[in-house]
Order: sequence, then C-alpha cells, then structure tokens
Amino acid sequence: MTVRLGDLELYILIAGRWKADGGLMFGVVPKVLWEKQKPADGNNMIDMACVGLIARVNGKVIVCETGIGTKLSEKRALQVALREPEGLLHSLQRVGIRADEVDAVITTHLHWDHAGGLTRLDGGCLELTFPKARHFIQRSEWDFALDPNVRTQATYVTDDFTPLADGNNLVEFVDGDAEVLPGVHVRHVGGHTPGSQVIVLRSGELACAVTGDLVCQTPHLRVGWTMAADIEPLRVLQEKARLFEEAEKHRWLLLLSHEPDMPAGYIEEGGRWRPEPRLA
Ligand SMILES: [Zn+2]
Repeated sequence: MTVRLGDLELYILIAGRWKADGGLMFGVVPKVLWEKQKPADGNNMIDMACVGLIARVNGKVIVCETGIGTKLSEKRALQVALREPEGLLHSLQRVGIRADEVDAVITTHLHWDHAGGLTRLDGGCLELTFPKARHFIQRSEWDFALDPNVRTQATYVTDDFTPLADGNNLVEFVDGDAEVLPGVHVRHVGGHTPGSQVIVLRSGELACAVTGDLVCQTPHLRVGWTMAADIEPLRVLQEKARLFEEAEKHRWLLLLSHEPDMPAGYIEEGGRWRPEPRLA
C-alpha cells in the first residue's frame, strides 16, 4: 500500500526476516522486562525484520536500507533463521520498479544486516544490485568498516560495499548532515556505529525518518533501551531523545529498522506510539 506525505510516495520494504539474540538487542535491560514485549525462543532469539522504504521523491526513486541480501552462507543463514532473503527485489517488483530504475540507495550504516543487499552473487560473480543508482554513505562509516577492530569485525562484510567503489563509481561520500537530493536528507547521528545516519525524506512540513539502528523495535522507543552493540551508547541516548522530540513536535513518520510487526508510526503527545498500518 502507498502512503502519501505531501509530494512523497512511500512503500514499505521488508528485505528479509530473521532472528537475533535478545541480549544483543536490549543490552543492559533485564530480560524479565524485554521478554514481555519480545518473547525469546529456546535459543534466546527474538523475531526481527529488515525494514526499509521505497520512495518516490521529486521524480526520483530512492531505496532506503537493503537488508541482509542473498549472499549469506547456508550455515550463517541457518544461524540467524533467515527467511525471505529476496524480499528487497520482491518488494520492488510489487510496486513495479526494476532494480536499474532506482536512482539512489541509502543505507543507514554498513553493518551486514543493512548493506548486504547492496550486492548479490550472479554465477559466482559479485554484482551490484542497483547498477545505476547513486549510493550515499557517511565517509566515517566507510573508513571504519574497512578498518574494523576485534569488537566490530564480525559486523562488516567488505563484499557488501567495496564493489560500489572498486570498478564502479557509484558511491558518494557524505561528511555530516546533508541534503543529498531535493527532499532527501541524511543526518549523521553516530552512536551505533561512527557513521550511522538517519534518513529524513521531506515534503514541506511533512517528513518520514528512517531511523536505522538508533531505534530498532518498538521497545526501543524508550530512550534508555538501547542495543549492546552500540559503539557510543551515550551518544545514542542523546540522538534518540532529540529525534523523538522532533518527531512528536512535527508529527514525523518514523520507520524502525528491525520491527517485524507494524514498523512505522507516529509518536503522539506524551510519547505514545501510534502505528501506521498501511506501512506493514
Ligand atoms: Zn541492524
């Protein structure tokens, strides 16, 4: 279904479903609290989706987030209980858009579960999923992803993103906040990773913000409920509080990165969440 916000046309993108460890998702929050909202299975895993957006903005087609993609080994796919890995292209087909018609692709950061869909294997060769799109990414994220440390090395897969630059010239680096196309803004928030960005699509006073892992699921709408994986937790708290204040005041539509059940919605007065069922 389409949601119109002024001149924006928005469609939900579910680029795969999977499971992640509940402790990873909720950090210092006690399990007795989070499991009431997100029940864990026998392996302590909770349901996840890779949530993104297909948007028509001022005549351009923009894909926000690309999910895990189709390159995981069978073993790894089983570990994370991956389902519907082709969801990225299937979602595009549903709205009648071919991959080579996409003008711009923006992932909030380069972790494997957000950037995996940027590339795919075709007969053993690594190919770009969106061969004609401009890809906007924070320079600080790119540099960090190419130089991981002991803590972060399992979260980046260079095959996901280096082909955008090697042999192709499709990556455009952003330093901080920018309007990368008319109506398409990125806001550098850091925190989860050094170059994490929130994508804000605007039409006049109306806006939709793709939060990335600043806000993964509905329980993370509590400012203090953050992920164990965040590199700079205090910065996450600050940026979340700032985003929620703006979203409530200006009635921004928020899209949460990993919520499997109605991932889009509004923050109403008093902080109450009102889901947008048309983006589910
Ligand atoms: Zn993620």
